[in-house]
Amino acid sequence: MKGTVYLIGAGPGDPGLLTLRGKEILEKADVVVYDRLVSPAILGMCNPKAKMVDVGKMPTHHKVKQSEINRLLVQFACEFPGGVIARLKGGDPFVFGRGGEEALELVAAGVEFEVVPGITSAISVPAYAGIPVSHRGIATSFHIITGHEKAESSSNVIPAQAGISSVPVGLDFPALAHCPGTLIFLMGVANMDFIARRLMECGKDPKTPLAFIEKGMTPYQRTVMATLETAGETIARENVTAPAITIMGGVVELGQTLAWKKNLPLAGKRLVVTRAAKQASGISARLTALGAEVIETPMIETRDVIPATSSVIPAKAGISSADFNALANFDILAFTSTNGVESFFRQLFAAGYDVRVLAGKKIASVGKITEKKLLEYGIRCDYVPEDHTGEGLGRLLASLLVDHSRILLLQGNLADDTLLKLLPQATRWVVYETLPVAELPEWKREAVVGADAVVFASTSAVENFCSVILSYTTLGASPLSGSYALWVGERSSESKDLNRESLTTPASCSPRLAFCIGRMTESAARKHGFETVTSDETTMDSLVKKIVEHYKKES
Ligand code: SAH
Repeated sequence: MKGTVYLIGAGPGDPGLLTLRGKEILEKADVVVYDRLVSPAILGMCNPKAKMVDVGKMPTHHKVKQSEINRLLVQFACEFPGGVIARLKGGDPFVFGRGGEEALELVAAGVEFEVVPGITSAISVPAYAGIPVSHRGIATSFHIITGHEKAESSSNVIPAQAGISSVPVGLDFPALAHCPGTLIFLMGVANMDFIARRLMECGKDPKTPLAFIEKGMTPYQRTVMATLETAGETIARENVTAPAITIMGGVVELGQTLAWKKNLPLAGKRLVVTRAAKQASGISARLTALGAEVIETPMIETRDVIPATSSVIPAKAGISSADFNALANFDILAFTSTNGVESFFRQLFAAGYDVRVLAGKKIASVGKITEKKLLEYGIRCDYVPEDHTGEGLGRLLASLLVDHSRILLLQGNLADDTLLKLLPQATRWVVYETLPVAELPEWKREAVVGADAVVFASTSAVENFCSVILSYTTLGASPLSGSYALWVGERSSESKDLNRESLTTPASCSPRLAFCIGRMTESAARKHGFETVTSDETTMDSLVKKIVEHYKKES
């Protein structure tokens, strides 16, 4: 049995525009093979344990060849029998995404596949710039065209001319010139001078309005207006670079009135949120709604405690790692977190057991969220305290007419002793541990370093962030050695001439600005060289307000 390959459209960049189906698959993927245009926020949604394979590597300007990508997909399907292989592409996989070629290869190799369409950049990037691709009375059709043709793909293609790469001479320019609908060119910037000239030669009005929308849906989104006759010179003057959409036709003018995105208070800002994944989503959603691009970068992570290798179990009576052979000694199992539930079952299954070992046992949960998590494993709770606290759970269990030594608590290494104090004869198994994150995934480093600011809600987040960032910049110890200069140099022009020796504070090689909750957090950030903006109150509401005020003042 081979794995299944999912050809997934990641949409144009905004993580909110990924489909639910796409997200569902990414969350359980064993391997994710992704392209350059996929945003870091979407990569952040992938199963943290997935093997991440970047086939659009930019730093060396070596893109993995299409034939090699096809081969890789088949190889992963064989390496992960029954597994989930996500092939994640920008926009829609079948709109100039070569998804069809990959699918054909999978069919030939007998690999099952599914296509998860995505929102194509061709219509959504203009929409974010306030340009509708069709509009009553202005355009009754729209046409999506490639502005770049691979030399081998058409016998009509002329050899590359000086400065012109793979000119799309195979296009039917007379037909396009006479077509009254909106023309949308993908991959067209490099050849736009040629394309515009050919369209005018074939009779298209030189005054046709045109917009280039560059780096759509990123903090660097920019709309540059021109006309057909000024297209080439505008690209040169304004230095329009890929990725960009070129859109031609009367609808372009609506963008002047309808541009909505760039007016949002945090438009153009990329912010790193360092909260733990579960707590981050609230603040991330609010910052995103205000127009920011958010890179969630939790500074702690949880890991299953594997009994044999455990070093985190305190040497205290009644506390140990899991020993499934001993489950028969307990009548009641109590869970105090969803992490505990997940780690317990993951390890139970890995050890070769299934839920039948719980037959006849009573199950207790600290609250509703943990109760719901248990239900996902087919387990209904017998006991949930009304007040949803550890103390409430302890009192509830203490009141039951059972021998307390037959109660088993399944918790993390940082759980406090509340339950053990109320139930001194109970046994506690530490099934997961919480650790500081030691490094950032490779795909995230550039996004974090290039961000405008970091959001910190605790001193430990500041300390962890700084030690992670410094671990990439310590002399000699940099895992990035070769690409280091590029990594730092690319984030802004001012940092280009920084040399390695001067990079001694985290703030000199990461965003300089920190938004902080709490004075302790603020002073930790200052100590590491950040400029700080601190919320008036210790709430997320107050911090979000402060962030908006800060950027309002700045502009
Ligand atoms: N399958 C993709 C298109 C791949 S071709 C889709 O459906 O969107 C790559 C081209 O798409 C780029 O050269 C550019 O023209 C366009 N593009 C993709 N993402 C873009 C973005 N965020 N901003 C501007 N153009 C983008």
